[in-house]
Amino acid sequence: MHSNKPVIGITLSQTLPSEQKRWPTRYEFDWLGKGYHYAIEKSGGAPFGLFNTTNTTMIGEYLERVDGLLFTGGADLQPKYFGQIAHPSTLIAAPERDSFELRLIREALRLRKPLFCICRGLQVLNTVLGGTLYQDLSLYPDNPLKHADKEQTGKVDHKATLLKGSLLHEIIGKTSILVNSSHHQFVKQVGAGLTVSALAPDGVIEAFELDDYPFLIGVQWHPERIFKRQHSQRLFSAFVEYCRKHA
Ligand code: MN
Repeated sequence: MHSNKPVIGITLSQTLPSEQKRWPTRYEFDWLGKGYHYAIEKSGGAPFGLFNTTNTTMIGEYLERVDGLLFTGGADLQPKYFGQIAHPSTLIAAPERDSFELRLIREALRLRKPLFCICRGLQVLNTVLGGTLYQDLSLYPDNPLKHADKEQTGKVDHKATLLKGSLLHEIIGKTSILVNSSHHQFVKQVGAGLTVSALAPDGVIEAFELDDYPFLIGVQWHPERIFKRQHSQRLFSAFVEYCRKHA
């Protein structure tokens, strides 16, 4: 029996094996913070986790089955992908995840799948389109705001200005919102075809979208962690609804 819920593929974090850890986390594993699939489910979608793989055939299998893709947050992308040497503060995740997500997003763009990219997801997308990142807040030229705290409590908020005429502004219906912030990297050069749709008061790029594309929104904040706020629900709903209509 089929429902009319769109299938949303969600990328997973990857943790490498470590002697220090005990079962069940001693072994390599893929995982996902609950906020993402909760938000998709609450918004009327059917969430499916996409296990990290570098098998091209499997990437094709995933893409055949999903109506849209959610690229999630996580550790830093290897800077070699945007032509830089790693800064000491850069926290590399798993090379397999990098390579999987870069291939997946390239292929998804070719197939014009609806995309919602959060935090690291936005950075991966920017990289695929030839953009670059500041690897750390300390490298930002102007006087930046606080965009994360060392303890990673997830309790840092700042204002974001949504630019009129953008899809993001149309969906949320406000020019100023309060977003959470948990990132030490930022977009430097914007990738080809992307238009900035939100800025922090210090000028940090907080969101963008792709011109002439079915549905693509990237946000630097974490709407899945502040799902109670109306603007988060609007974002997830707009994405899932678009995927449902075009499934
Ligand atoms: Mn921020």
